[in-house]
Amino acid sequence: MDAWTRSKNFKKIIEEARELQRVFSSDVPIVIEELFTAKSDSSSLIDELQETKVLKNGARKTELLFILPSSYIGSPRYMHQLYQDAMAIVRKFGKPDLFITFTCNPNWPEVKNSLNGTQTSADRSDLTTRVFHLKLKDLLKDIVDKQVCGKTLAYVYVVEFQKRGLPHAPFLLILDQNSKPMNPDNFDEYVSAEIPDPILLPEMHQIVTMHMIHGPCGKANPNSPCMEDGKCTKKFPKDFIEKNIQSLDGYRVYKRTEIGITVEKNGQKVDNRWVVPYNPHLLYEYGAHINVEISTHKLKLDPPTLAGGCDSDQWSAFTRQWKMYKTGMVITDNVLPTALFYCCDTNIRTDIMRDLQGDVASMIETDLLNVIKRLAVKEESTLVQRIKLNRMFLSPGSNIRTCLASLRGQVHSASIKPRAEK
Ligand SMILES: [Zn+2]
Repeated sequence: MDAWTRSKNFKKIIEEARELQRVFSSDVPIVIEELFTAKSDSSSLIDELQETKVLKNGARKTELLFILPSSYIGSPRYMHQLYQDAMAIVRKFGKPDLFITFTCNPNWPEVKNSLNGTQTSADRSDLTTRVFHLKLKDLLKDIVDKQVCGKTLAYVYVVEFQKRGLPHAPFLLILDQNSKPMNPDNFDEYVSAEIPDPILLPEMHQIVTMHMIHGPCGKANPNSPCMEDGKCTKKFPKDFIEKNIQSLDGYRVYKRTEIGITVEKNGQKVDNRWVVPYNPHLLYEYGAHINVEISTHKLKLDPPTLAGGCDSDQWSAFTRQWKMYKTGMVITDNVLPTALFYCCDTNIRTDIMRDLQGDVASMIETDLLNVIKRLAVKEESTLVQRIKLNRMFLSPGSNIRTCLASLRGQVHSASIKPRAEK
């Protein structure tokens, strides 16, 4: 029997013996790992390991020490090297903007059409892995060359294997400044978290229903893998929300309108609250579970603070700072009152709660600002303000610009209209 026939026969035996095939797929990497394991006798490496406390003091038995080099895929040194590269990319190009998880679909036609007889995709991990690899290359082309999510400056990804053997690849994309999803109004261009209308978009409706519905978990399915201590670790079902927002902690919350579109999954009726965020273009193109999330972007700005009993000058400074703060932090309308409330000190907050019967969180910003102004700013008569103005002086060594700004503020508070004379 020649080598070709032998290899063909071996492949056939492997394919037909399903359990054997699974054992073969899991054993081969271990055998390779053993073959590639490098035995180290380098004293400098031992010193380095002792310094980093990988080895206990005095352990110099080099004959017992095996170290996988970074050239071996999946070894700790390989992962560490990639981590360092990823950090260098972030240092150069900035924080990632999109987080995409591409998961292999065992029901892809390319997989299904290549199965023999009674085989299932679980019996052919060689096939699912190859098809996934080809689709992954296509996905990269779409993202990087065709710029379906905007101009990509840099990306990192890793292929992982889930517990049931199917590969999936989490991506991080760093986009060009003009392509970044900064405004909640533009989130729709990148991510959707709703079930499409079954009449207007029947095909997309079917794809989303098939691939992008979470669970269902909770009371209906307490044994779902996402459940921990009786709660869904992915926080499903989410809340209905009329528009995209950015929460105070920097997280993006996607629009999930309550328009009554429901589908049935595993015997349970689910609606927009159960949809895993996706990009319609990528989902339609690849027909697999592709989760797309906009990364959190939180500017580290300290909120302005307001103390009770302030004067009109301090109030005016506070409102200007507040305006800059809410723009910088991209605080959306739904959390504005709460953010504003917590800029006030404890005394003002207590006064607000006493003064208002309704819910502060549902107030309009201007109404709440008026309430805070009434409670926090002490009213001084024009006469007192004018006396203050008269007593102002330029102390030695003080900054002329600061003095001029204070003078201007005081002139305004004293209701004096400055007039230029020749
Ligand atoms: Zn869940």
